[in-house]
Amino acid sequence: MIEIRHLKKNFGTLTVLKDVNAVIRKGEIVSIIGPSGTGKSTLLRCLNLLEYPDAGEILVNGVPLLAPHTDIPAIRRKMGMVFQHFNLFPHLTVLENITIAPRKLLRRSAAEAKKKALELLKTVGLENKAFALPSELSGGQQQRIAIARALAMEPEIILFDEPTSALDPTMVDEVLSVISELAKTGITMIIVTHEMRFARNVSSRVFFMEEGCVYEEGTPQQIFESPKRPKTIAFIKRIDMEYFALAREDFDEVHIRSRARALADRHHLSEEQREKFRGVFISTLRDVVFPVTEKIDLYMGVSKTNGMLGFAAIWDGKTADPFTRVPEVTRYILENSRSATFSYTEDGRPEVKVLFDRQS
Ligand code: ADP
Ligand code: MG
Repeated sequence: MIEIRHLKKNFGTLTVLKDVNAVIRKGEIVSIIGPSGTGKSTLLRCLNLLEYPDAGEILVNGVPLLAPHTDIPAIRRKMGMVFQHFNLFPHLTVLENITIAPRKLLRRSAAEAKKKALELLKTVGLENKAFALPSELSGGQQQRIAIARALAMEPEIILFDEPTSALDPTMVDEVLSVISELAKTGITMIIVTHEMRFARNVSSRVFFMEEGCVYEEGTPQQIFESPKRPKTIAFIKRIDMEYFALAREDFDEVHIRSRARALADRHHLSEEQREKFRGVFISTLRDVVFPVTEKIDLYMGVSKTNGMLGFAAIWDGKTADPFTRVPEVTRYILENSRSATFSYTEDGRPEVKVLFDRQS
């Protein structure tokens, strides 16, 4: 239904979307997650041309959106959009807010538009608010009206940009449950959200945005339970992470030390913790990992939820448990950490993982 190819968008010298590629099929519910400032809103706004992309292609049902003779208003009508701040017309009643676009753009009669609006108000649980003004409604109710208004245009796809992030926490669930019900009707939806549990429950696919692209995508289970790439892992597991792709021949210890120090400073690690970490880290690399490989991906991080400190090294190829090769080193590592384990990642790469208690 929507195909995005090499989409690029700059604001002045700032490249927000570097190279976005994605295919969204009819009936899919795609959640877009990621740190703020990574271009999630910009991507949605490019899809209905509230922002004009600098390069790339967007195909909607095979029609190239950016081609010169495309009927943009017609395509835009197929896409509903729900914003963070509802954007209802303050001087119009709920009913007028919902019927104005169908009457003007779809040329519906007043009676027809009203009938449809009342049905939609029922679906969002607000049939008794038809004659209220937006200011008389709570934020959660206003957002449900905004959803009804988007649906009144009978869109084929509906785009949500953080529909609950401006709401009081007590009103988040009523909006999410309306969206979840909507998801069951088979309409295609793209939802930018920070509500991870919701994204996990409602989506057929999840896009994680970083570095100006869809950095990792997968089923909710893949993204939330076994994210593969470092920035996805850090985001999902709420880890403040430093990541290094290392090759033995250009191992830059000064650089690694300085980033480790910055991480330790951010989390106020004690001198004793730093000392332990440093000792275990160096012997793991020097005695356990580097002897079996040339190249490693290295992560070190501190959990933002429980303060747990740790590092992991992952490499290519097949290796028997490297700890069994070096018993004295292994003993030293185990004595100075909470745990040190050898396993395989889901894609079959050997991994050692060492964890420390925050207060050790
Ligand atoms: P997200 O929705 O992921 O938080 P946005 O798409 O809103 O990110 O913004 C991405 C980046 O683009 C941010 O650095 C933001 O400041 C910048 N940006 C967004 N819109 C504009 C604009 N109209 N003019 C200049 N910079 C913008
Ligand atoms: Mg945004």
